[in-house]
Amino acid sequence: MTAPVYNRVALIGLGLIASSMFWAIKRGGLANEVTGYARSEATRETARRIGLCDEVCDSAADAVRDADLVVLCVPVGAMASVAADIAPHLKPGATVSDVGSVKRAVIDAVGPHLPETVHFIPAHPLAGTEHSGPESGFAELFDNRFTLLVPVDGTEPAATSQLRALWEGMGANVEEMDADHHDLVLAVTSHAPHLIAYTMVGVADDLRRVTDSEVIKYSAAGFRDFTRIAASDPTMWRDVFLNNKEATLEILGRFTEELFALQRAIRTGDGDQLFDYFTHTRAIRRGIIEAGQDTAAPDFGRSGKKT
Ligand code: NAP
Repeated sequence: MTAPVYNRVALIGLGLIASSMFWAIKRGGLANEVTGYARSEATRETARRIGLCDEVCDSAADAVRDADLVVLCVPVGAMASVAADIAPHLKPGATVSDVGSVKRAVIDAVGPHLPETVHFIPAHPLAGTEHSGPESGFAELFDNRFTLLVPVDGTEPAATSQLRALWEGMGANVEEMDADHHDLVLAVTSHAPHLIAYTMVGVADDLRRVTDSEVIKYSAAGFRDFTRIAASDPTMWRDVFLNNKEATLEILGRFTEELFALQRAIRTGDGDQLFDYFTHTRAIRRGIIEAGQDTAAPDFGRSGKKT
C-alpha cells in the first residue's frame, strides 16, 4: 500500500473502465474516497449492490463536488454534455481527466466547457475487454498496460505528475503523447483492426452457404478472435469511428491498397510475394511479445486470461 495520491476521486460513468479503476484504486489505496455517478438508475443500483464506489450519487454534480480528480468514463460522444453538466460544480484546483479512446475530439468537446480554475489532462488506458457495464471491471485490467496522458498546452507539470502517479499505482506504464499522434497510432493499432473484425464477422454472417452452426462449430482461432473483438460495445465503437474519422479513413485507405496487392498475388499465384509479406508480419508479432504486450502461449494464452 502506498499513500493516497488524491483525497477524493469522482468517476462519471460506471462501466468497464470506471469499475476497473475503482477496484485498482482500492487495491493500491490510491484515494481516500471514490464517488461515482451513472446516468441510469439501473447502473447506479447495480453499483451500490456490488460495492462499486464508496458513494454512488444520484447526480453528476453531487459526485464531483469536492473531488480532487474527476474522470469522465463515458462514450466519446457523451463527453461534451457530461462536461457541461459538471463544470459549474468543480472544485477550483481539481483535475479533470477522461479515458476516451479518441483524444483530439474529446479535447475539442470538453475543453471549452471547463473553468480556467481546473487542470484538464486527457488520458487513454490501452486496456479493455469486449465486456461492458459496472460488473465487468477488475483491478488487474491496467497491469503492465500502457496509459497515454495527453496534457493540453499550459498544463501544470505537478498536476500531470499526480495523475501519472495514480495510473502507475493502478499498474499501468504511463507515457505522454500529443493528441493527433495518439489518434493516428490508435487508428492503426486499435480502431482499424476493430472495423476489420466487425466486417469479417459480418461477411461470415452474410455467407449463407456456410451455416451459422458451422461458423460456430468450426470457428478456428483467427475467426474466434474476430468474433471476440466484434462483440465490443456498439455505442463505444460507433463514437470512436465518428470521432476519429480522418485517421481511421487514412489507415483504411492504406489497408485496402495492401489487401488488393495480396488479392492480386493470390490471383496470379505469386507465392514469393505472399511468403515475403508473411515473413515480415511474423517479425512484427515477435516484437509485440518481446515488448511484453502479449503472450507467446499458443491460442494467445486465452485459457489463462480473463479477457
Ligand atoms: P461501458 O462499460 O459501456 O460504460 C459506459 C458508461 O457510460 C455507463 O455507465 C453508461 O451509463 C455511461 N453512458 C453511456 N452513454 C452515456 C451518455 N450519453 N451520457 C452519460 N453517460 C453515458 O464503457 P467503457 O468500456 O467503460 O468505456 C468508457 C470509455 O472508455 C469510452 O470513452 C471508451 O472509448 C473508453 N475506453 C474503453 C475501452 C474498452 O475496451 N472498453 C478501453 C479504453 C478506453 P449507463 O450504464 O447508465 O447506461
